[in-house]
Amino acid sequence: MTNKKQDHCSFCGRPASETYMLLQGVEAKICEQCAEQAYLIIKEELGLKQSKKKSESKAPNFELKKPQEIKRFLDQYVIGQDEAKRTLAVAVYNHYKRISQKVLADEVEIEKSNLILVGETGTGKTLLARTIARMLNVPFAIADATVLTEAGYVGEDVENILVRLLQAANYDVAAAEHGIVFIDEIDKIARKSDNPSITRDVSGEGVQQALLKLLEGTISNVPPEGGRKHPEQKMIAVNTKDILFIAGGAFDGIERIIAARKSTNIIGYGANSDQVLDKSNLLQYVAPADLKKFGLIPEIVGRMPIITHLDPLDADALKRILTEPKNALVKQFTKLFEMDGITLTFDDDALDFMVEKAIEFKLGARGLRSIVEAILNDAMFEMPSEETPRQLTITRAYAEEKLSKNHKLAQ
Ligand code: ADP
Repeated sequence: MTNKKQDHCSFCGRPASETYMLLQGVEAKICEQCAEQAYLIIKEELGLKQSKKKSESKAPNFELKKPQEIKRFLDQYVIGQDEAKRTLAVAVYNHYKRISQKVLADEVEIEKSNLILVGETGTGKTLLARTIARMLNVPFAIADATVLTEAGYVGEDVENILVRLLQAANYDVAAAEHGIVFIDEIDKIARKSDNPSITRDVSGEGVQQALLKLLEGTISNVPPEGGRKHPEQKMIAVNTKDILFIAGGAFDGIERIIAARKSTNIIGYGANSDQVLDKSNLLQYVAPADLKKFGLIPEIVGRMPIITHLDPLDADALKRILTEPKNALVKQFTKLFEMDGITLTFDDDALDFMVEKAIEFKLGARGLRSIVEAILNDAMFEMPSEETPRQLTITRAYAEEKLSKNHKLAQ
C-alpha cells in the first residue's frame, strides 16, 4: 500500500518522502492529507444533502393519534381541565393533519390555528403543552413573553423564541419547523389600555407586532446561539409556518371584563334572560373580545383563534394531583425512597394536610412539591444511613411537625 520511492501524491504533488502514507490506486496515488480532505468534503456534501432532504420532507415522522386518544394521553399526566384537553386535542390533531396535507394547486389550503390557554397560574397550562409535545415527540420550547422586546430595545429579540426550539431540536431545522412553542405569560405584553391612541408602550404593542409575524408564518433568521443579532453573525433560516404556538396567561382581572360583557348581553337586546352566570368560574366564558379588551392587539387574537380556559384547582383536584398522574409527586418520592430500600407510605389525612397548606399558601399545584420536600427532608437526610427502620409512614401529625419546623414555608 505504501511506496515511498520516487512516487508522489497525484492530488497535491507532494513527494512520497514528505508524506506519511501514499495509497496506491489503479492509475493514481493519494497521500494521507488529501485522503483526509477528500473524506471531509464528501462528509460535508452528504450532510448537506441529508439535511436538505429532511427539510424537504414535509410531514413529521409520527403516527397521528385521533383527538380522543390524545385526550386519553393527556389524562395520564394532567388532572381535570377537560375542556382545555378536548380543545387542545382537536387543535393539535388538525394542526398536524394540515401539515401532512399535500397541497395540490386546486385544493383547499388549511390555515393554521394557534391557541391561547387562559387560566390562573399553576393550573396546568405549561404541563398541557409539554405533555402534548412529549406525546408527539416533537421539539418543544417554552418562551417567557415578559422578557421579549422589539428588536433594538433592551431584552430578548422575539427570534430568541426560535433559538430555544432549535436547541430542543438539536439544530435539526426541519424538526424545529414542526415543533411546538409555548409562550408563557402572554398577558404581560398586553397594551395597558385597549385604546391604541392612549398608550403606545414599547413592551406591549411593539412586541405583539413582532410576535405576530412568527405566529402568522414567516421565514425568520435566527442567530444560532441566541442573544442579540449582529451583522457578521451566521443565521439559520427557520420557517414558522408549521410551528404550533400555544400561548398561556393568567389574564388577571379579565373576569371583570367577562362579567361586564356578559351582563350587558343579559340586559341587552336579544339576550337570553334564562342565562345564569356561574360567577365562581367566569373564565369559562372567555371570548376573543375579552382578550382584545384586556390589551392584546386584534391581529394577535386573530392569529390565535382557538381560546380555551383552565379551571381553578380545588382541594379535590390538588389531592388527585398528588397521587394520580403517571409521575405524581407521591409516586416520585415513593420511588426515591424505594431506591434506598425504604417503603414510604402516606396516610390519607396527611395528604389532606398538604393540600390544605398548598391552598393556604396560595401556591396551588406549584406549591405541592415544596411542601412534600419540606416534610420529607429530614427523613431523606437521615434514613439512607440507617439500618432500621426500613419503613416510613407519613401521618398528619408527622407532616404537621416537619412543616412547622420549616421556616421558609411555615409562616
Ligand atoms: P401554569 O398554568 O402556570 O403553566 P404549570 O403547568 O407550570 O402551570 O403547573 C405547575 C406544576 O403544577 C406542574 O409542573 C404540575 O406538577 C402541577 N400541575 C398544575 N396543574 C396540574 C394539573 N391539572 N394536573 C396535574 N398537575 C398539575
